[in-house]
Amino acid sequence: MAPPRSLPNIIITGTPGTGKTSHAELLAERTGLKHISINQIVKDKECHEGYDEEYQSWIVDEDKLLDAIEDEVTKGGCIIDWHACDLFPKSWIDLVVVLRVDTATLYDRLTERKYPEKKLQENIDAEIMDVLIQEAREAYDEEIVVELESVTTDQMESNVERIEQWLKQWKEDNGV
Ligand code: ADP
Ligand code: MN
Repeated sequence: MAPPRSLPNIIITGTPGTGKTSHAELLAERTGLKHISINQIVKDKECHEGYDEEYQSWIVDEDKLLDAIEDEVTKGGCIIDWHACDLFPKSWIDLVVVLRVDTATLYDRLTERKYPEKKLQENIDAEIMDVLIQEAREAYDEEIVVELESVTTDQMESNVERIEQWLKQWKEDNGV
């Protein structure tokens, strides 16, 4: 079957603080794929229903968000960077990377970011309870979901190399 796009779309997801943006930026730099920061789009294109002061985050309007990125993403070659994944249509996505870290590391990273106590605790609980990996496995075919550890810079380096290898293979398989 002919691929629906000439370059694949990759989701990089995980609990806040696991390293999504760092991975997405490095991968974009190395591959020329486009980094789509959903946080940025939600803000810039106002895909939200206001700001939650307690959580210090936007209340995302998912329909508006999907409309805002559809043209770009369906062309292909996007790295989608967000802490949720099951809202993106299955047909858009070729690979889902779920980043993971241990509790102590996550605690340090989110404390550094000055997260409000409740938000910090909820995110740590989400990481412990495998929320994102389960969400990914429920929303997408098992073969396209990859779980990668993101504690050290060496791991980030090898994760990005691994995704670059996957991209190379995808291009070969799809005659790009
Ligand atoms: P996210 O986008 O998932 O919230 P970031 O990429 O912003 O996460 O990373 C959060 C913090 O953790 C940053 O200070 C980043 O430098 C650090 N970090 C993330 N992943 C790693 C890693 N694999 N090794 C070392 N530091 C990392
Ligand atoms: Mn980020």
